[in-house]
Amino acid sequence: MRGAVIHAPRDVRFETLDDPKILHPTDAIIRTAVTCVCGSDLWPYRGAEPVGDPHPMGHEYVGFVEEVGSEVTGLRPGQFVVGSFATSDNTCPNCSNGFQSNCVHREFMSTCQAEYVRIPNAQGTLVATDGTPGEEFWPGLLAVSDVLGTGWWAADAAEVKPGSTAVVVGDGAVGLCAVIAAKEMGAERIIAMSRHASRQKLALEFGATDIVTQRGDEGIAVIRELTGGIGADSVLECVGTAQSTQQALHSARPGGSVGFVGVPHEVAVDGQELFFSHVGLRGGPAPVRRYLPDLIERVLSGRIDPGKVFDLTLPLEQVAEGYRAMDERRAIKALLKP
Ligand SMILES: [Zn+2]
Repeated sequence: MRGAVIHAPRDVRFETLDDPKILHPTDAIIRTAVTCVCGSDLWPYRGAEPVGDPHPMGHEYVGFVEEVGSEVTGLRPGQFVVGSFATSDNTCPNCSNGFQSNCVHREFMSTCQAEYVRIPNAQGTLVATDGTPGEEFWPGLLAVSDVLGTGWWAADAAEVKPGSTAVVVGDGAVGLCAVIAAKEMGAERIIAMSRHASRQKLALEFGATDIVTQRGDEGIAVIRELTGGIGADSVLECVGTAQSTQQALHSARPGGSVGFVGVPHEVAVDGQELFFSHVGLRGGPAPVRRYLPDLIERVLSGRIDPGKVFDLTLPLEQVAEGYRAMDERRAIKALLKP
């Protein structure tokens, strides 16, 4: 089969690779329906994370079951399945508590920009749809498996409630999906922080009520001004930089909550400041598996369309162009079709 391999920063190639095989009885092999490039794939691509030896890339997928291991009894070849970037048995104590992305058997996916993918912990990880959804739903279901699941977790962790005010920091695919989540959870006012016209437009389409273009102290001042001088009930941090984290912490009101889902890079939180702020803080890799049945239903019923975050569609063999377009911010998110 063929798939993406990163050799060095800004050097992603589409190469012939070994076909994945069942390694454990709990594995499944899927044939990729669609996959994509994630904002977090840009960290190694930009050299902000070491690349090391050449290795495959990608952690987002929806596909068709090709083969299952002997212990995978709930799935059969041909089914259309949605999963998550973190695999889980869905039975251990952490899974039972709803934190499947911290499953004791967790393995992170990392080979999904390819024609076929091995899924560990397949039984607990994959959710099969009833029949094969129309192709028009594939981008939305792909979004569910990562960016919407993560945006949903941001809203959940930030305790968005009906009638509340939510601020979304970050206008990447996760931030935009966090707007959908805040809206679905009933936030009355959703303030999206964005400087890019096309992303502002999508944020408004997804349910944002206000757009704030300022950043840093100025951004914090504008949020305060918009929230009665005290800050928002919920802040959804979807970037992971030092600046975005400060923005988030200072945008929440005393007693408010910050959900942080951007993978932190050089982020430090001042304990004294946090203590006196009365702001609640929760984050981490999203327990997407917890939300899958609900989010799949919302997409297939046509209630939400997170697939709109994909503003570039390419054949999988042009994966390198997908990285370039996202790196240069010509695209929010690149969808790849094998
Ligand atoms: Zn588990």
